[in-house]
Amino acid sequence: MIPAPPPTALDDNHGLAADWRRSLADAGPEAAQVLAALAASDAAAMAAHFYHVMMDDPRASRLLSHEQVRTRLQPAMQRWVRDLLCAAPDTVEGLVAAQRVVGDVHARVGIPVDLVTRGTRILKQRLFQSIAEQAGHGQAAHAAIASLTASFDIALEGMTLAYSSARDRSSRTDAAYRLFSLVQNVGAERERQRALLLDWENTLLYTLASQCDPLGLPSLSRSEFGLWVTHKGIPSFGESDETRQISALIADVDRALRQTQADGDDPRARAARLQEIRTRVGQIRSLLGMMFERIGEMDASCDALTNLLNRRFLPTVLRREIDLAVKSRGSFAVLLLDLDHFKSINDAHGHEAGDRALQHVAALLSQFTRGSDYVFRYGGEEFVVVLVSVDESQALAIADGLCRRVAESPVALPGGHTLAVTASIGVALYDGHPDYERVMARADAAMYQAKKRGRDRVVLADGTQPEAPGRVSLQRP
Ligand code: GH3
Ligand code: MG
Ligand code: MG
Repeated sequence: MIPAPPPTALDDNHGLAADWRRSLADAGPEAAQVLAALAASDAAAMAAHFYHVMMDDPRASRLLSHEQVRTRLQPAMQRWVRDLLCAAPDTVEGLVAAQRVVGDVHARVGIPVDLVTRGTRILKQRLFQSIAEQAGHGQAAHAAIASLTASFDIALEGMTLAYSSARDRSSRTDAAYRLFSLVQNVGAERERQRALLLDWENTLLYTLASQCDPLGLPSLSRSEFGLWVTHKGIPSFGESDETRQISALIADVDRALRQTQADGDDPRARAARLQEIRTRVGQIRSLLGMMFERIGEMDASCDALTNLLNRRFLPTVLRREIDLAVKSRGSFAVLLLDLDHFKSINDAHGHEAGDRALQHVAALLSQFTRGSDYVFRYGGEEFVVVLVSVDESQALAIADGLCRRVAESPVALPGGHTLAVTASIGVALYDGHPDYERVMARADAAMYQAKKRGRDRVVLADGTQPEAPGRVSLQRP
């Protein structure tokens, strides 16, 4: 029998929408009328009430106090309340999809789930009061309350589904980033640890075969491999069943090693002990292989052509910089750099020359930023630099410097030819908005302006630039 495929997000959506339709049908048209009247009379007051109550919570007020959030949230909240109250069989599918988008935003910004549940509880309580005031306590009011409760709960479920999977995704990326920053090169590290374990095993074999005292050998936990597992492997892979098993196996091996002394010179006992040790070491090797494999299955940490950071780590870095900026009341800047007329460079000099130019610019960006900054390959001929702990004038000075360096350092091509390249750079300073996509969007809009104003220049995002057209968000679908 073919096993059923795992449920997808779309299956979840259909399931929630079907439940929603059923609850609307159960509630009947009178309840729908009560709720529609409530939507017309109460949605604005609800949004204001919600905002007022949430601002009392210090965690919520940190996320909500940004000017843009304030101006966008109230109308959005009003629409959200109205849509839920006016839910109809033919709108629920779209409504479920919308809740998932909201859940994604919550995950990105890091809004704790308990705050969201509290927010909906506050709204529900207030709406129940209004129903009692407007429709009394009869059957229609009762049905309206049941329907409203179902709508809110389903909406919350949709948000939570999206929230959890987005958080899972980002914690996997965070973990990969941790590993990457700790061991830098996963492939080389895997080979190195494999070799160290093999070395230890060979030395043991030799020691036992030559009848030397195996206790002269460092225990596996004190060997170079064992130290790596404790100090780098476990912290970078994170605590998991596999890391726990590896630690237990290492302890088993060391125990068996100590017991070889008790075995004395009995060759059969020694052979059995050796067999036991080799089995355990084999298990360690395959567990380690699996863990490295899992990390290797993820996209490469570095971009293969330029050796810069892969863009999938950008959310991890930006989330952390936003956190640090909030805690230290500091700031950071995002530079979005796009090479000018790159298509013509490829057309005129060939793709290989284009690749060389990308490597050349990548090297300049790494060379002329600080070790604490981050340089990413963002896309084809686009780069992102995150300048940590800078103010506006410092960020602009660095951006201007980079722009000049790129323009003044021609790319060396084979045959002694050189190629001039220029770049357009958009600069955005962190402005307190908790969603990292906003600072990216502002840098992007500024870069787009730099192109429009003639290229080979730096433009600072000042909030007046319109959003660049056709941009995709950093969030993966
Ligand atoms: P603009 O000044 O408006 O940015 O013009 P442009 O030609 O640079 O802009 P556009 O984004 O239309 O073109 C980017 C080109 O970059 C398209 C593609 O051929 C080239 N490109 C993208 N990735 C690579 C790469 O890895 N290697 C090379 N050689 N070229 C690339
Ligand atoms: Mg481009
Ligand atoms: Mg370009």
